[in-house]
Amino acid sequence: MIQIKSNDQIKMMRKAGRITGEAILLAGEAIRPGVTTKKIDSIIRQYIEKCGAKPSFLGYAGFPGSACISINHQVIHGIPSDETVLQEGDIVKIDVGAFIDGYHGDSARTFACGRISEAAQRLIDETKNSFFQALAQVKPGNRLGDIGFAVENHVTSFGYSVVRDYVGHGVGHDLHESPDVPNYGRKGRGLRLSEGMVIAIEPMINEGGAAVKSLADGWTVVTADGSLSSHYEHTVAVTEEGPILLTEVDGCL
Ligand code: MG
Ligand code: MG
Repeated sequence: MIQIKSNDQIKMMRKAGRITGEAILLAGEAIRPGVTTKKIDSIIRQYIEKCGAKPSFLGYAGFPGSACISINHQVIHGIPSDETVLQEGDIVKIDVGAFIDGYHGDSARTFACGRISEAAQRLIDETKNSFFQALAQVKPGNRLGDIGFAVENHVTSFGYSVVRDYVGHGVGHDLHESPDVPNYGRKGRGLRLSEGMVIAIEPMINEGGAAVKSLADGWTVVTADGSLSSHYEHTVAVTEEGPILLTEVDGCL
């Protein structure tokens, strides 16, 4: 069932969203060659806890980190580790959730570690652009298919592909609520958006094919063909006045 939020509840969700966004930006500043993903994870956990919130992912279905940190061909759900040392040229996906006052925020960004290839930068940029194409469709009366179509239509024009095995979702009291928000779809199809829905829109875009597989650690999802993958996510409230990016921090997108 879809949990519709009141204006007051959306305001409350802004707190979780802001902490989530701030933790990501802080983590992004710490990314450089030689840093471990465990160190990045610690920075995120400390910041979230300092704010009086809880890392949403820590212990979620047994996940051992406070953030999912996924490198290069890893798509999502990478486990922070002392053994994973960032290298010059890596692209680093950081996915964070924070829980406070009864609500979650959920957001992800892809960062460059040092100098990266032009192709990698283009993948990052167009993944982000696809999110904003989708965001332009977020209004009461439009449909989930309009969002999915906007993402897919944008990225396929660059020869990229949309991960289909994982999708966006509702956000609220639970980290993952109804409905599913796919990054593919048909215009005018699917569930109708309505005032008070809060959804995580999160394009996961591969430079190569769409197929993904899970590693033996039970978490990390990688591209089947080893190609690079990029991720961009915000928690978004649907309102008559336009979408509200609950995980935005002072226009740092
Ligand atoms: Mg996320
Ligand atoms: Mg999410």
